[in-house]
Amino acid sequence: MQVETKVKAINCLHFINGQFVESQNHKTFENINPATEEVLGTVAEGGKEEVDFAVRAARRALNGPWKKMTLVERSKILRRIGDLILERQEELAMLESLDTGKPFSLANKIDVPRAAYNFHFFADYITSVGTDAYQQDDQAIHYAYRRPVGVVGIIKPWNLPLLLLTWKLAPCLGMGNTAVIKPAEWTPMTATVLMEICKEAGVPDGVVNLVHGFGPNSAGGAISEHPDIDAISFIGEPSTGASIMKAAADSLKKLSYELGGKNPNIIFADSDLDEVIETTIKSSFINQGEVCLCGSRIYVERPIYNEFINKFAEKVRELRVGDPLAEATNVGALVSKEHYERVNSYIEIARNDGANILTGGKRPEGIEKGYFLEPTIITGLDRTSRCVREEIFGPVVTVMPFDMEEEVIMQANDTHYGLSATIWTNDLRRAHRVAHEIEAGIIWVNTWFLRDLRTPFGGMKNSGIGRTGGMHSLDFYSELSNITIKL
Ligand code: NAD
Repeated sequence: MQVETKVKAINCLHFINGQFVESQNHKTFENINPATEEVLGTVAEGGKEEVDFAVRAARRALNGPWKKMTLVERSKILRRIGDLILERQEELAMLESLDTGKPFSLANKIDVPRAAYNFHFFADYITSVGTDAYQQDDQAIHYAYRRPVGVVGIIKPWNLPLLLLTWKLAPCLGMGNTAVIKPAEWTPMTATVLMEICKEAGVPDGVVNLVHGFGPNSAGGAISEHPDIDAISFIGEPSTGASIMKAAADSLKKLSYELGGKNPNIIFADSDLDEVIETTIKSSFINQGEVCLCGSRIYVERPIYNEFINKFAEKVRELRVGDPLAEATNVGALVSKEHYERVNSYIEIARNDGANILTGGKRPEGIEKGYFLEPTIITGLDRTSRCVREEIFGPVVTVMPFDMEEEVIMQANDTHYGLSATIWTNDLRRAHRVAHEIEAGIIWVNTWFLRDLRTPFGGMKNSGIGRTGGMHSLDFYSELSNITIKL
């Protein structure tokens, strides 16, 4: 059955100083539905000029009514934004599904509720935390005074467009900053609707601004090098992070990076196999495997290796791939032709490296249009294959057996990435021991994707710089002055 809806795709304009506007030169690009290859609408293409207008509006707004608002007033606005997201849940979920190719059911169940929760969480959190204060005998008291960083550039990827934008924007606004946002060019719609929501919720003009466009020599590049942007919050690929860092160097911007991953799942023989398989299907193929936290390298202890791959493959073959708007669909379309070809090129690399494609590896039969790929399990690769070493960011996992704890730790760490890891075992001591050895910012034991927004979130090595979540987000989006008063 198809989801019934009246929601229509929208044409996307920039949002600058509280108004939706076209580009100066009226330039636009097409937004393509990855499930049908049809044009959804047009998107204004911004560059230096639009970014500069947006930065000037954001700078003025920093010292306008926004500055005079109390913490409680800002908290109320954040709460209202979260409420309005929920009021428009179906519309946002539909636009997210049309833009990304992900199943509507997933966007409706996870992306949009979580986007609302990002605002609700920070609405509460900002009013409940204090800053440091120290008494130094009878000589002095010291306290930390928090203020906004200033104008923040927020540059976003396409995989969880609304969820990740709200994850950054909520604490950014909560701390009194203003923002210039650039959504990914492939997924511009929900960010555009969020601007309407912010306005309706009472965010003053100029506080949030949105400029659509591409990366280098376009809106992304213009944000990275703009001298009057104080900080950049970036989510995307490590190589893009490096380019942004170079462009931002001249103006010494504060940077927060959440980058890619090649996350290991380590499954010991003493774990509960049914539970492992149920969760591993999600950690491999949810959102077509286009989640930075997906576990794409699966290491299984040899005594259960055969049983694991047989059961895992059997369940994966049952996943329904196809129309994102069909209620029964588990796996939708990959986000774009370019990305589809990139993911397929890794399957070709695996074949050339002598892999066994246990299941998937091709377009589902009977689907002629759209960027669909069957969930793919690959075995028989050694650790030198690019398929094992590089982030594929699609519905493709490799499975490898291991014999010793030390060996699997070494293999898990044998990567430039360090975002997340999952460990499956019922041995408590081993769980801690292995967790302490794995080089990753987020480590789950006997679960995956279980989040508490107060906890530190982010990656080490090439997977990121800094942490977000709870206090870590507030620290990035504010500057602390220590004030010492002699008694
Ligand atoms: P990407 O780096 O290609 O693009 C991200 C954004 O940067 C886009 O908006 C793009 O237009 C912009 N951009 C590209 N080049 C730029 C440049 N030179 N200057 C300024 N902006 C530029 O990433 P993507 O393909 O959109 O997203 C996938 C990547 O994001 C994967 O590596 C994935 O793991 C990562 N990701 C990480 C997290 C996390 O929390 N760690 C979450 C989601 C996605």
